[in-house]
Amino acid sequence: MHYDADFRMLINGSLVASASWIEIINPATEQIVGHAPDCNSDQLDEAVRHARRAFPLWRDTPHAGRSALLRDAAERLTAHAEQLAHLLTSEQGKPLNQARGEMRGAALWLRSMADMALPITVNEDTAERRSETRHVPIGVVGGISPWNFPVLLSIWKIAPALAAGNCIVLKPSPFTPLTMLKIGEILDDIFPAGVLNIVSGGDALGPWMTAHPGIDKISFTGSTVTGRRVMASAADNLKRLTLELGGNDAAIVLPDVDPHDIAPKLFWTAFRNTGQFCIAAKRIYIHDDIYDGVAAALVDYARSVKIGNGAEPATDLGPIQNRPQYQRLIALIDECQAQGHRFLIGGKVDRDQTGFFIPVSIIDNPPEDSRIVQEEPFGPIVPLLRYDDIDDVIARANASPYGLARSVWSGDTDQALDIARRLETGTVWINEAQHLMPYHAFAGHKQSGFGVENGLAGLLEYTVPQTVTVRKAMA
Ligand code: NAD
Repeated sequence: MHYDADFRMLINGSLVASASWIEIINPATEQIVGHAPDCNSDQLDEAVRHARRAFPLWRDTPHAGRSALLRDAAERLTAHAEQLAHLLTSEQGKPLNQARGEMRGAALWLRSMADMALPITVNEDTAERRSETRHVPIGVVGGISPWNFPVLLSIWKIAPALAAGNCIVLKPSPFTPLTMLKIGEILDDIFPAGVLNIVSGGDALGPWMTAHPGIDKISFTGSTVTGRRVMASAADNLKRLTLELGGNDAAIVLPDVDPHDIAPKLFWTAFRNTGQFCIAAKRIYIHDDIYDGVAAALVDYARSVKIGNGAEPATDLGPIQNRPQYQRLIALIDECQAQGHRFLIGGKVDRDQTGFFIPVSIIDNPPEDSRIVQEEPFGPIVPLLRYDDIDDVIARANASPYGLARSVWSGDTDQALDIARRLETGTVWINEAQHLMPYHAFAGHKQSGFGVENGLAGLLEYTVPQTVTVRKAMA
């Protein structure tokens, strides 16, 4: 098989081309990586129709049988992981080692969801009757994923949807569909035809899916703005919804940490995946007593980090994934400069360079109401903010419509735990960040999401409860 050509959609167990194609660009070189099919509405209808037809058979396949196929899929992905990681780097831009990590994560999620059992609750067991509540699949799931972790976030939908007995039509981002299309080709013969479908297309395809009467649930990861549109569109046939949306995560650094020890940890919390991470720290609150020391150590560390083409082994941070996002970041940096914010490092973009590269940029204590503090930049630019009172910093961290994750950094775990309890957010990490596992529930508070991914709670989102009550024969 060719990993760098012949990209086709998986519909009803067949690899399908289309009448038109989308160009996919390598963000480091601005060269074309490949062409993805542009799914038309008839092809989407076909995918949904076949998924509906396949549903009863897949639903009635015992859990052990479905799990075995998910484990086969994990093994198959692992066998092709190296070539897929190269493809992922060339379409997404991330360093190859991180692309390999994303592939390992995808296999781990498939295996873990295969191992997770759906609980049955016995409500009543008396001489007259037995009543229990179990969890049955919903039907056809539409999965929609973003461009920052194109494989992992797609598998976060495929694995639980199939494990619970649903069929799925998955749509990756139009900026990064290629690796998921190849994964469709690789997994083609594992699941019965129609159970797993992968379609790619332009801006019309997502709205067609959310409005499609044959889709029973949408599982969406992307921006909060799009999430609102998805929710409105899904109302027509009351689709079930899981929405994982944007974030403006605060890191809170207490005065008892060592600046040199904390600097690399804070750096990666803010800049991993070039800051294109829903759970990146996007505001770093540092206690006045250590602010200058931490700021200096962060800048020192930032100077040691290499930005470049993710395919080159020395690269730590890749480019911005796509031109529109690159241009949004340039406009934001220009605005920060115009407002007189002080850059401790970065803040100047070489616009003549090939590739969508933005330097690591750290801003010194801008006003709390500035755009760089209030909004999600989704790139390698972060403000450092001073505080001297715990109640004040908690209030500032909470003063956001977003509530995805926060991190607290301190040698005093009890105090950090107390702060965590007061934070309005779905996840809090203490002295680490971005630790995600298949069996940890991950959910957005406020406008960062609706519903849960991962953990048993995440698996249950792909089911509806069914209470079955049996009246026993009377003696
Ligand atoms: P986006 O919202 O622009 O697009 C996400 C997906 O939705 C893409 O596949 C896109 O084609 C599709 N889409 C666009 N408009 C649609 C519509 N009207 N109806 C249905 N689908 C539509 O997001 P993005 O730019 O790809 O990703 C970045 C955003 O995603 C950031 O805000 C980030 O914080 C968020 N994100 C959240 C999580 C999380 O788990 N909470 C994870 C990763 C990214």
